[in-house]
Amino acid sequence: MPKLDGKVALVTGAGRGIGKAIAVRLAADGARVVLCDKDLAFAEHVADKLRKTRYDAIAVRADVSVWQDVETLFIEVSRVFGGVDILVNNAGIRQDISLHKVAEQDWDSIISVQTKGCINCCRLAQAHMVTQKWGKIVNISSPVPAVLGEKTQSLYAAANAAIDGFTKALALELGPFNINVNGIAPDYIDTEMLRDTAKQQGMYIDDFRKIAVSQIALKRMGDSDDIAGVVSFLVSEDASFITGQVIQVKGGP
Ligand code: NAD
Repeated sequence: MPKLDGKVALVTGAGRGIGKAIAVRLAADGARVVLCDKDLAFAEHVADKLRKTRYDAIAVRADVSVWQDVETLFIEVSRVFGGVDILVNNAGIRQDISLHKVAEQDWDSIISVQTKGCINCCRLAQAHMVTQKWGKIVNISSPVPAVLGEKTQSLYAAANAAIDGFTKALALELGPFNINVNGIAPDYIDTEMLRDTAKQQGMYIDDFRKIAVSQIALKRMGDSDDIAGVVSFLVSEDASFITGQVIQVKGGP
């Protein structure tokens, strides 16, 4: 029997990149998967492919930073599947901006998507998990500071450090209800976000990759499946005594 048979997994930002790989992996592990993204067409495309492979999957549009969107998302999941057993907070945006150039809306947008988005989803997911005394939450953040030590990431670092603090505190709050709350801080995973970063820094992606690889201990870029595999482990019973941990998955110490 697949290890997540019967479980419902909600993955945010599942339309592409790391979130897509996580959704595909959890479906292969036997979960019924809800793919949430602010861009419904991307999420729908992935859900469609999963259904054609006879996996149980639906796509739902929600901007995780919007309180009402997340309320509607959870109502829809309850209607279709009954409740969320596994939540992966992956939706995120990246900000590369020096502090002296920051406008209020820059800070508002990164903290809203990265941090508030994660908290919005945990708030609604935990109710069902507490009732059934079983749940798995994985929050995706980012190593602080980043592997290449860019000097334009103070806002991004603050928003991600907040997620890691929230993960550890929530693990204490939800531990008595048999809910594991862990984090993954990936870096240098070859996705659209990474390509956007290279562009923002005025670099060709191949040059960006070369510099990154030279500084990564394992001498290769990461792949979205490198993160999906760790999520699969953290939500499995093999990891049932791990909670409140943030695992850095970045090819080096
Ligand atoms: P990506 O930009 O390729 O994909 C992000 C997905 O999230 C997109 O489908 C996007 O539409 C969705 N999304 C963005 N804002 C949203 C919102 N408000 N509501 C719902 N969906 C939203 O990014 P990725 O590289 O796959 O990154 C995934 C996660 O990993 C992010 O949280 C990111 O901060 C983190 N991360 C990635 C890297 C990396 O090397 N790629 C490094 C550090 C951290």
